[in-house]
Amino acid sequence: MPDIITDPHAHLGHIAQRLGIAAVKTVLDLYEESSEAFILDIGTKPGDLKERRLSFGGYRCVKFSAGLWPGRESFAKPRASLAYLEEDLQSGDCVALGECGLDYHHMEALPDQQKAIFRSQALLAIEYRLPLIVHSRDAYMDTLEIVAETALYTPVVIHCFGYGPKEGEKFLSAGCHLSFAGNISYKNAGPLREAFRLCPMDRVLCETDAPYMNSMPHRGKASTSLDLSRTVDVGAELKGIRSEDLSRQTSLNAQRLFGLKTPRASV
Ligand SMILES: [Zn+2]
Repeated sequence: MPDIITDPHAHLGHIAQRLGIAAVKTVLDLYEESSEAFILDIGTKPGDLKERRLSFGGYRCVKFSAGLWPGRESFAKPRASLAYLEEDLQSGDCVALGECGLDYHHMEALPDQQKAIFRSQALLAIEYRLPLIVHSRDAYMDTLEIVAETALYTPVVIHCFGYGPKEGEKFLSAGCHLSFAGNISYKNAGPLREAFRLCPMDRVLCETDAPYMNSMPHRGKASTSLDLSRTVDVGAELKGIRSEDLSRQTSLNAQRLFGLKTPRASV
């Protein structure tokens, strides 16, 4: 029986595309039984909440975010995309805004366009009092500039953190949380592991980004939230603590950030 740990970043619909809907339901049934762990299903495209809610809204363990990933779909009609997003936020069904941010690796729009839509979403997160879940790839300086302003008003999570200790320290001093995925287990990830080591316990999260970023030894294979325990094991070793102590702390951090509550929550 795999460990059932709160996963603050997964794409359930994308997992279903890769592994089939039955595989997702098996995972969700296990989480449902655990009665205290959650999966945060992350939005990426304009208006995608409706379908995700239809597929997974019946599960107590599933919570939703909505956001515009820095990709073509979001940039084609920015104003319409933002209007769709605001509709999703108004539904009251989202515990976070994201993922959104800057991707200068895939570069599906010019940096100025990316920054404009990212800033608009950061403002929406403040307006709707939601934590902001940020994607940042090869865009450290520009991301820092925007999140440093945002984190003054609402919590910010740098998801699938992919930079080194220096960048980690800057994001932390700006007040951000850092969320680490399976890539902390990769061979060439020394600087990333260093960033993990220095991240204070009350600001660290562990996520899968499933079906992506599977940890070793399953790198390249589609992941689910059940793969999270191997990432936690690597993190615990880096911190010199037991895996169950790290997972308890990261789950608490996620609960606090996203307001996750269980019907049997302790008093
Ligand atoms: Zn993601």
